[in-house]
Amino acid sequence: MPVERSYLDWNATAPMRPQAQEALREALAVSGNPSSVHAEGRAARGLVERAREQVAALVGAQSSNVFFTSGGTEANMLALTPAIETAGERRPRGRLLMSAIEHPSVRAGGRFSREMAEDIPVMADGRVDLAALAVAVGKASRPLVSLMLANNETGVVQPVAEAAAIVHAAGGLLHVDAVQGPGRIPCNIGNLSADLLTLSAHKIGGPKGVGAIVRRSEDIHFPDPLIRGGGQERGIRAGTENVAGIAGFGAAAEAARGQFSGEAVHMKALRDVLESGLKAISQSAVIFGETAERLPNTTLFTVEGIKAETAIIALDLDGVAASSGAACSSGKVQPSHVLAAMGVPPALLHGAVRVSLGWATTQADVEYFLDAWRKVASGLSKKEQGIAA
Ligand code: PLP
Repeated sequence: MPVERSYLDWNATAPMRPQAQEALREALAVSGNPSSVHAEGRAARGLVERAREQVAALVGAQSSNVFFTSGGTEANMLALTPAIETAGERRPRGRLLMSAIEHPSVRAGGRFSREMAEDIPVMADGRVDLAALAVAVGKASRPLVSLMLANNETGVVQPVAEAAAIVHAAGGLLHVDAVQGPGRIPCNIGNLSADLLTLSAHKIGGPKGVGAIVRRSEDIHFPDPLIRGGGQERGIRAGTENVAGIAGFGAAAEAARGQFSGEAVHMKALRDVLESGLKAISQSAVIFGETAERLPNTTLFTVEGIKAETAIIALDLDGVAASSGAACSSGKVQPSHVLAAMGVPPALLHGAVRVSLGWATTQADVEYFLDAWRKVASGLSKKEQGIAA
């Protein structure tokens, strides 16, 4: 079946699931404010609380431990504060330890000062160095540690449960940015032994601009909200709730949970086709993090001589939406901090192309990409031979 465009940038954002679109449309018709006591208000409250249960079920939490935010960025910012408290421990946390490959919304350090934050290195395969983590938590008193579940660029899955054991033994707390995980790999807050978990709706097929911070137990308190006011979200996040967005998030969470095993197998099978096709076209292709466990939908690769920006533009013109491993800030393409942390040589830092798949990706999408890549690769080899491409 011919496809007009092949969307392979699901780690940037996923198309909205039909169930989320439906829930969002229905919620837009509910006129009440969830804080109002009348019937209209109660209807809106009902939507928010149903979504809270759906999101809680996605990660095996209790619904009373889910707090809605404007997205993953805000959830990270809310969690990363020295003021975070556990029952019986009201002293501020003196140190933030975070892996060197965290998303910029964690790397910014939340409300810790730069001097209070310390990086934990990763190994060449993209996994956090647990020995280095053990040394760092041993030196810090009651640190807050932030480690992502899976990296958004490489897809490499982090040893979160092992890290949690190290962190807890040292009296620390573990925050896990799980934004890229649900619907792709198991993501149960209890099994991960995470104290706090960040989620974002738009990565699982919900709307953009809504997310959640989830806590393991009611023993964890946020005495330092980012937004104060009317006391919504039990005082942790003031402001009238984004009812439609939250309802869409809930529906996406339920669909992602219900369809998880089938979708994960589907993505992995197509990703395998993509990677073997890629290697057949470009024998020198290097797939970053290939030896580690990765998300079933993500491939970050480079080929000698390739410039990511040029390849992404060529792919786009050919109908393929992919992205580069480099983050673009203020119009300037920066080398990936993730690859730099993995010790990738500078010559390869500028060449990374990320292809990320989703539940609706088809074999035709993958073939479309491979056809487009063949053209990029033949342009490259012509250049190598000194022939104008
Ligand atoms: N954390 C990770 C790992 C991400 O990939 C992203 C989004 O790209 C975020 C956090 C931020 O989430 P949001 O876009 O909902 O603010």
